[in-house]
Amino acid sequence: MRIEEHCYKKIMENIHDGLYFVDRDRVITYWNKAAEKISGFTADEVVGKSCSDNILTHVDREGNSLCTGICPLAETILDEKPREAEVYMHHKDGHRIPVSLRVSTLTDSDGNIIGGIELFTDISNQAANELRVKELEKLALLDNLTQLANRNYIEREIRNRFEEKKRFNVPFGILFIDIDHFKKFNDTYGHDVGDDVLKFVANTFVANARPFELYGRWGGEEFVGIIRNINAKDLELLGNRLRSLIEKSYIMRENEKLYVTISIGATLGRENDTMDSLMKRADTFLYKSKAAGRNRLTIG
Ligand code: GH3
Ligand code: MG
Ligand code: MG
Repeated sequence: MRIEEHCYKKIMENIHDGLYFVDRDRVITYWNKAAEKISGFTADEVVGKSCSDNILTHVDREGNSLCTGICPLAETILDEKPREAEVYMHHKDGHRIPVSLRVSTLTDSDGNIIGGIELFTDISNQAANELRVKELEKLALLDNLTQLANRNYIEREIRNRFEEKKRFNVPFGILFIDIDHFKKFNDTYGHDVGDDVLKFVANTFVANARPFELYGRWGGEEFVGIIRNINAKDLELLGNRLRSLIEKSYIMRENEKLYVTISIGATLGRENDTMDSLMKRADTFLYKSKAAGRNRLTIG
């Protein structure tokens, strides 16, 4: 049986993975429905553009750009070897989404390479997150602007973490996060753009959180991450990875790219800590990050 071309097209449109084609110059020629859903960009917005044109701008775990140098797709078009990678894709709203991707070459009927295919899966645990938002909303523990846990919930969680540490000796760490020069940002671009930045920062945390991490909004432009079962070295690595993801992300306002950075104070829960002493210590290290020039993490 011969499957007509339009049938293939229908299948490609309806798979759950993002799928796109590029030609040899890395200009996007096809973009399916799941790619629209995962990235926030419609086919109309991306077909005909180069994939580095402010669209996908993939970065690796350390925040290094993959689109200007050697990206997996470009390498595959050159050496014809399929590749797999985990990268962070740029969502239209600015935040980064971790995706697992597979690339291979696209050939014409004579076997000549005419471009590349990328298939990508959202690995940010979106479904679990939607459920979490509904639960928190019901219990009045949701911050409405960012859809993160609110301060009440953070405090509850920290009490649970102290209990878990006392009973089962499970360590935990705190990231106290504050957006740098946010007031100046609000004053320059207006409160609404400021709100968009808060949402984008929050989305970056949520999209990249693993099951043992919880992020909430402490107030204003301050956020808290609670990380279970972690040591100081890994807490520092994790915090710096988040910091770097934010630094390398941007939101688009008209044709301008807007960047923000965050400063972090990190610390582990200690035996004789109270909620107050823990948060004060995290705040002291946050202040050190600010005093040392911002866009950095201090741990102690
Ligand atoms: P620093 O680098 O020292 O942290 O400087 P900063 O400007 O970020 O810090 P500051 O505490 O002076 O300013 C925080 C600003 O955040 C002031 C306030 O107007 C703004 N802000 C607080 N909550 C919200 C909000 O929900 N939406 C918006 N758009 N702005 C907010
Ligand atoms: Mg602040
Ligand atoms: Mg600030």
